[in-house]
Amino acid sequence: MATKSLKKLGNNLAQSNKQLEILSNGIFKSGKLPTFKDKISETSQFPIKAKKLEILQINVGYMCNQVCDHCHVDAGPDRKEIMTRDTMRQCLEVIKNSGAHTLDLTGGAPEMNPDFRWFVEEASKVGITDFIVRSNLTIIRANKKYYDLPEFFKKHNVHVVSSMPHWTRGKTDKQRGDGVFDKSIKALQELNAVGYGMPGSDLRLDLVYNPSGAFLPGDQVAMEKDFKKALMDDFGIEFHNLFAITNLPIARFLDYLIASENYEDYMYSLVEAYNPAAVENVMCTNTLSISWDGYLFDCDFNQMLELPVNSKSRHISEFNEELLEGRNIVISQHCYGCTAGAGSSCQGVVA
Ligand code: SF4
Ligand code: SF4
Repeated sequence: MATKSLKKLGNNLAQSNKQLEILSNGIFKSGKLPTFKDKISETSQFPIKAKKLEILQINVGYMCNQVCDHCHVDAGPDRKEIMTRDTMRQCLEVIKNSGAHTLDLTGGAPEMNPDFRWFVEEASKVGITDFIVRSNLTIIRANKKYYDLPEFFKKHNVHVVSSMPHWTRGKTDKQRGDGVFDKSIKALQELNAVGYGMPGSDLRLDLVYNPSGAFLPGDQVAMEKDFKKALMDDFGIEFHNLFAITNLPIARFLDYLIASENYEDYMYSLVEAYNPAAVENVMCTNTLSISWDGYLFDCDFNQMLELPVNSKSRHISEFNEELLEGRNIVISQHCYGCTAGAGSSCQGVVA
């Protein structure tokens, strides 16, 4: 299990241009597999166009208390990229004035940003309908300064979305690190104790499943049933919904695919599972991703690949919703991860 980010290790794949080179060469350059652009062109779906903005996803920093094998952010304790309060102020202005109904805070572990609580307090006042924080759960048990997070989330009516790759200790710890399962279970019980995830509760608690290897997720509805039964039977835990998310072939998951010699097979399975119906609703069509330093991207994956939005409005300081609407989405072969099977987004399946 890694303890350092690819960036800290000096691994080539920490560089976005190296990742993009891999995704553009080999099986795609030789024509064995169609590029994503060619594939969506077959059904006249190129270019993908941004529709009305509904979700602002803000990445407040890449620092994390974990170093999960599959992480598309290449997050970890050694990452120093952190959003400042000044950039948060600019984000608040945009949240107030844009038409987005959902705010989605992500990271790294967003709670590790020193201004996280200030930002949540301020953002909770601006009339957002759905205010999501992506919490990795273990942060709640990582240090006593985080022990009150369940109460803090409740106070600000935050919708908690948390990764839980499996209901067994072995599979969870394999992907996320030793001890992660036990801490996650304890954190879920604490969230339940303040009302999160309980049947009929407005305090939303959703879990995210992503496969622990080079395979696609199974049926989201069936998996939710299995998760609910196992977590209730074994630990008395309740939650609302399960989102099944496909691992995209970037950053540490790409590194894993290459190291385990699964890269080509995985790309073949993504292309074979391509579903044109999913293209209509890929999350970049209604979401905008904002990086820790205020730049705008079509999604968190494009942020990590340093593929900026195709618009004159490229930074939060020059945010212009009209200019951004209708922009052409920037794509590459990683996008096959969003269109395989029932499709995949930060909110689970899309088709
Ligand atoms: S997957 Fe989430 S919890 Fe794991 S290292 Fe990445 S940001 Fe942290
Ligand atoms: S990876 Fe990003 S840009 Fe590509 S389809 Fe998915 S959400 Fe859209």
